[in-house]
Amino acid sequence: MKTFDVAIVGAGIVGAACAAALTREGLSVVVIDKDGVANGTTAAGMGHIVVMDDSEAQFALTQYSQRLWKALADEMTNQCEFENCGTIWVAADEEEMNEVRRKHLFYKERGIETEILDEKAIREAEPNLAEGLAGGLRVQCDSVVYQLTATKFLMDRATSGGAEMKTGVRVSSIRDGEVELENGEKVCAANIVNAAGAYASELSPQLNIKKRKGHLVITDRYPNFVSHQLIELGYLKSAHGKDADSVAFNAQPRITGQVLLGSSRQFGAETKDIDNDIVQRMTARAFEYMPKLRDISVIRVWTGFRPATPDNLPFVGKIPGFTNVYAAAGHEGLGITNSLGTAELLTDEILGRETAIPIEPYSPSRSFEIH
Ligand SMILES: Cc1cc2nc3c(=O)[nH]c(=O)nc-3n(C[C@H](O)[C@H](O)[C@H](O)COP(=O)(O)OP(=O)(O)OC[C@H]3O[C@@H](n4cnc5c(N)ncnc54)[C@H](O)[C@@H]3O)c2cc1C
Repeated sequence: MKTFDVAIVGAGIVGAACAAALTREGLSVVVIDKDGVANGTTAAGMGHIVVMDDSEAQFALTQYSQRLWKALADEMTNQCEFENCGTIWVAADEEEMNEVRRKHLFYKERGIETEILDEKAIREAEPNLAEGLAGGLRVQCDSVVYQLTATKFLMDRATSGGAEMKTGVRVSSIRDGEVELENGEKVCAANIVNAAGAYASELSPQLNIKKRKGHLVITDRYPNFVSHQLIELGYLKSAHGKDADSVAFNAQPRITGQVLLGSSRQFGAETKDIDNDIVQRMTARAFEYMPKLRDISVIRVWTGFRPATPDNLPFVGKIPGFTNVYAAAGHEGLGITNSLGTAELLTDEILGRETAIPIEPYSPSRSFEIH
């Protein structure tokens, strides 16, 4: 039986990025997915590539990843819809303007250029925002990508570099040297990567990953309705809160002229069903920030499960109890952004090379007395 250098479980954006990076280094790779390429959470995400400031470790990985996306931008096909539109963090009042100033300083101290917008400047930047908002912070280096085609692009890179794909077959267990499939087949590999997203803990109970459901809404085509990714500053409270349900205003411009509207966060919601109460709360919040959204048509609503960890950081690195079984999972609402950085960290780790940023904060063996 053939022994691969690496077997990756999961063909979402994280598994695809790992496959592309590992094959680039000349390793033989097989990717196994119970469904197909980009069928899991990746299909449900928003595609915002964002440098975050909520912890030093999150900043390091998002900034590293954002630079990798920028470097990849010229090589990606037009179908990947990569656009450097920037983010505006929207402040509703003076209290949130204090947060704008804090964020501005945080980014400045770490070499990220940002611009403080006052009430007039934010309306000039985004004329469809409500009147009377206090201002905001523009982070120009942030981008958006259509993550479905980007995942396919990364997987095509991997397969043209020699990676093999096995789709439509569920992995039932993983251990050092071997992946066992539900059909009884075994795949041998020197290294195994668990990139099974929200389902990674089914294969590796050591990984504390819970499903955090999110709803998104997409409109018909209204070119230039929104130019930046817009996020209310209350978003971080929603993202970090441990409450069962929360919503926050988040609007994304698509190259197609559509507006993608988010978002909600729910723990304990196990089905993909659309919750009309949540959608209503989400859209009501969006109307507060962009009243003209009331006049435009929505064409689709969907849900997905973010793979959430207790400290909002992903698991990247060796899983305790194994010699050569690794995790690349638990990226919650930043998996599209952090896919490229994760892939490089993991590749360096597997090859025994120094990583570009410290990998320890993402170690699956870390403890969770943090928050
Ligand atoms: C509403 C919403 C909005 C989001 N917005 C953003 C955003 O703007 N920016 C951002 O960076 N991130 C965003 N995210 C987060 C991002 O989508 C995820 O973090 C990312 O897609 C996770 O990718 P993944 O490859 O780890 O998981 P997945 O895409 O879920 O891939 C895992 C794969 O593993 C396979 N699998 C699972 N178990 C098995 C098994 N036992 N055997 C075989 N195969 C298996 C699944 O079929 C799946 O294809 C958002 C998520 C949601 C839900």
